[in-house]
Amino acid sequence: MNNEPAVVLPWHGRETSERRIADADWERLERHAAEILAAFGMDLDTPGTRDTPARFLRALYDATAGYDGDPKLLTSFPAEHSGTQSGLILEGPISFHALCEHHALPFHGAAHVAYVADEEIIGISKLTRIVRLYARRFTVQERMGEQIADALVDLVRPRGVAVHLEAAHLCTQMRGVAEDGSRTVTTFWRGLFNEDADLRREFLLQIKP
Ligand SMILES: [Zn+2]
Repeated sequence: MNNEPAVVLPWHGRETSERRIADADWERLERHAAEILAAFGMDLDTPGTRDTPARFLRALYDATAGYDGDPKLLTSFPAEHSGTQSGLILEGPISFHALCEHHALPFHGAAHVAYVADEEIIGISKLTRIVRLYARRFTVQERMGEQIADALVDLVRPRGVAVHLEAAHLCTQMRGVAEDGSRTVTTFWRGLFNEDADLRREFLLQIKP
């Protein structure tokens, strides 16, 4: 393991300090959440729902933890010199849950992430961490894929990166066109994958269910 400083990832998010919500703000948010839930028909005066506004906010807070960054991504296992160029390193399916920034409703699915190492490699679990980091926030599938690909480029300086996301969007399934069962598929290529159709085929073949 080398001692080079870990690459600093572009978080594209708010600073951690802004995510700490002061008690007074939290109480105000609870009142607003209660008002919204009640306006749409929830009876907040039952044993089951009395704490729902607070639970709803806590769930939202957890679901957007990606804005806090992931310190372990950078500190616990810095990129290592493998000493040799290697073939395709692929991880997946990595399950994820994200919130659509247009409707604030979840979209969830699976990611496959691959890279062709140049001289550096990272622990496989970091690929999962990168996916979760960019999923746990308000986003769109397209940006999420770009951010995962760019983070991997920053972190390991690989020869190529491939990211494949397949997700079900509750905003289309629960409302609007009510497309139950449909999936949105997006792929993102960096480096070698842009130039090498065989490599793209190998990746897509390997991630077939
Ligand atoms: Zn949406």
